[in-house]
Amino acid sequence: MGIEFTYSQPVAIYFGQGRFRMLSQLLQEMEIDRCVLVCDPYFAPRAQQIMKENKAVCAVFSEVEPNPQLKGIIQVTELARKHQAQGVIGVGGGSTLDTAKFAAAIALDGGDAIDYYEGRRSFPARRLAMIAVPTTAGTGSEVTQVSVVSHGTEKKTINNPAFMPKAAIVDPELSSSVPPKVTMNTGLDAMAHALEGYWSVNHQPICDVLAIEAVRTVLNNLERAWRDGNDMEARSNMAYAALLGGMAFAQPKTAASHACSYPLSEDYHLPHGEACAFTLDSIVMLNADERLDYLCKAVGLEDCAALARRIRELKELGGLRTRLSQLGDVDVGKLAHDCAVHPLMKNNPVRLDETALVKMFEALR
Ligand code: NAD
Repeated sequence: MGIEFTYSQPVAIYFGQGRFRMLSQLLQEMEIDRCVLVCDPYFAPRAQQIMKENKAVCAVFSEVEPNPQLKGIIQVTELARKHQAQGVIGVGGGSTLDTAKFAAAIALDGGDAIDYYEGRRSFPARRLAMIAVPTTAGTGSEVTQVSVVSHGTEKKTINNPAFMPKAAIVDPELSSSVPPKVTMNTGLDAMAHALEGYWSVNHQPICDVLAIEAVRTVLNNLERAWRDGNDMEARSNMAYAALLGGMAFAQPKTAASHACSYPLSEDYHLPHGEACAFTLDSIVMLNADERLDYLCKAVGLEDCAALARRIRELKELGGLRTRLSQLGDVDVGKLAHDCAVHPLMKNNPVRLDETALVKMFEALR
């Protein structure tokens, strides 16, 4: 059978060092006179400065927490409604972008955030324009229709076209201050997106090309960016890899490593990138086949074992946890069960049931 696929990528992407300075011009072009800027406490002083300099920014919400909670979304939505905002700008890591995306999607509708979160209310067709400005190089949230939100201890991935940003400004300069540990976590998240988009049962040709280039770019630049955060060439390449990684998984969706990341984040409090990376090298070996071997060779590695080895080396270099004994008292049976029943597990090319996952985790004791 010949090639057949459906592909779309609706976000206008402005990529390059220093391009964040075009924000005012972009707001004008998008005819946004009133908007809310969302960030986390790290960016708060700069956000206040931006508000002073730019009349279109009428309010700042700077309290986004990692693994963002629904309550932050409720606060941003209230601000946007109060100021009759026409847009929401998210400047930060995935936690900030996901908060801004959700609030922009619901602000024009009268409903409560919890009703959309619980699926009792559909996301409206009319929404505020959202501008995504990533400051970490990992999630690719600037080009996905995903928002990952926690409510209490539950962490949920919601996938809806309403979350697609209208525009993304990817300025690698903004990532120069990311600490080494976060650089490694987020860089391996980008690697996980690319690999999972590639081996997902929903894989498709355009995303495969993006995935291969993203994996190659992470392999060539992550250690450099981790060693020297001011190496702007490495930072720029990592921002590019994260963007490509986002586009590589946006349609095929992620699979086993991401399925396992949810219980690892919820029950053992690993940051998202570290949680994905925890099983990534093991899953490379479990998914090893001719297709994955093709990717390995295309990025200059001998085989799947070499890819798994390099991922493990990067984790160890970055001080990420690699063994269950580092997570405290782990109930392997429960962990394997929770991973096996996660909906993303269905996208994995190899069926990994509870028994297979117990075996995988036992080898990581
Ligand atoms: P994050 O947004 O939680 O930020 C991690 C830490 O890095 C924070 O303390 C933050 O203050 C700090 N930080 C961010 N930028 C900085 C900078 N430039 N300088 C100094 N410090 C900085 O981390 P993340 O990994 O970018 O995002 C993780 C979240 O994104 C998780 O909730 C995850 O589930 C979600 N996610 C979403 C998607 C998607 O498509 N929507 C994809 C993958 C992950």
